[in-house]
Amino acid sequence: MSAVFNFCAGPAMLPAEVMEIAQKEFINWQGIGSSVMELSHRSADYMAVATKAEADLRELMNIPDNYKVLFCHGGGRGQFSAVPLNLLPQGKTADYIITGSWSKGAAAEAKHYGNINTINVIEKSEQGTYVTDPSTWPLTPNAAYVHYCPNETVDGIEMVNVPDTNGVPIVADMSSMILSREIDITQFGLIYAGAQKNIGPSGLAIVIVREDLLGNARLETPSIMNYQISADNDSMHNTPPTYAWYLAGLVFQWLKKIGGVAAISKVNKEKAALLYNYIDKSPFYNNPVVSENRSAMNVPFWLTDESLNAEFLAEADKAGLKALKGHRIVGGMRASIYNAMPIEGVETLVDFMQKFEKRIR
Ligand SMILES: *Cc1c(COP(=O)(O)O)cnc(C)c1O
Repeated sequence: MSAVFNFCAGPAMLPAEVMEIAQKEFINWQGIGSSVMELSHRSADYMAVATKAEADLRELMNIPDNYKVLFCHGGGRGQFSAVPLNLLPQGKTADYIITGSWSKGAAAEAKHYGNINTINVIEKSEQGTYVTDPSTWPLTPNAAYVHYCPNETVDGIEMVNVPDTNGVPIVADMSSMILSREIDITQFGLIYAGAQKNIGPSGLAIVIVREDLLGNARLETPSIMNYQISADNDSMHNTPPTYAWYLAGLVFQWLKKIGGVAAISKVNKEKAALLYNYIDKSPFYNNPVVSENRSAMNVPFWLTDESLNAEFLAEADKAGLKALKGHRIVGGMRASIYNAMPIEGVETLVDFMQKFEKRIR
């Protein structure tokens, strides 16, 4: 098989090594003659898989004991509902910081459940698109929580610094940047992430929640979305997505083996720098975001001559560079370069972009 690099924004590529282990174990896990998929979630064998995955994630992210880790159904978007149902009591307000299409989507969903104050923090200057200074944001005093999205997957906008909310719990949608760089969990009330970018198969979502925020779910909260019930039942109030949980566990083991979040974060920085530096150098391609807010995971770029888009994408595909088409709402191109994308993938892409530019100009 000749090398193919998959730049899909999600479900994204998984580490080749993980896929090989999963393949080897697929029908006969650890010599027991069954697949992990065929095990009772309450069996000792499966419980060991589930417990190890959680312990490895705790180690990778340095998660303190006063935070629960939940393995949930419904992907990232399921949490758009679960967060307000669990954390927004009647009569209270939640602030939603809008930096792009995912935070907009989270706010729209939360509006079904209560008072949502949206704060648009994206501005444009001559230097490009940027996130305004958090100290100028008109936050609601005594809000139930402040929700934001540190990495906007569609728009390619990342906020590295965590805003100061004066003690109001911060809820962060980390779907497309979890485990990509080091974070300090204690700065957050709740973190959630759909799995299909940096963790494993789609459908699974990880929730990391500070214990004091549990126990306030609204009466109408479906029990499978109730964090307290999930926490009391080790995420097994109903049958969890067992195979996705197992694969997530293999990804955590892989990440530990290659040096953890600190090590992958260095590689991620190198990959992003390689691509952005080339885009900036070339008059043929462009990216409109200021350097401080450029995403290290999702790199949208445009051809100066957009009539060449189709040709670019077709030739890239032939060269083994897959799924580079930008999101339908923004157009152009997007290279998603999550943890599993090796640096060779980005080198091959930059090489291709260079050759394409040379041939056309
Ligand atoms: C992918 C993504 C989601 C949605 O995840 P689903 O599992 O499709 O619901 C939510 N937020 C962000 C930031 C994402 O990148």
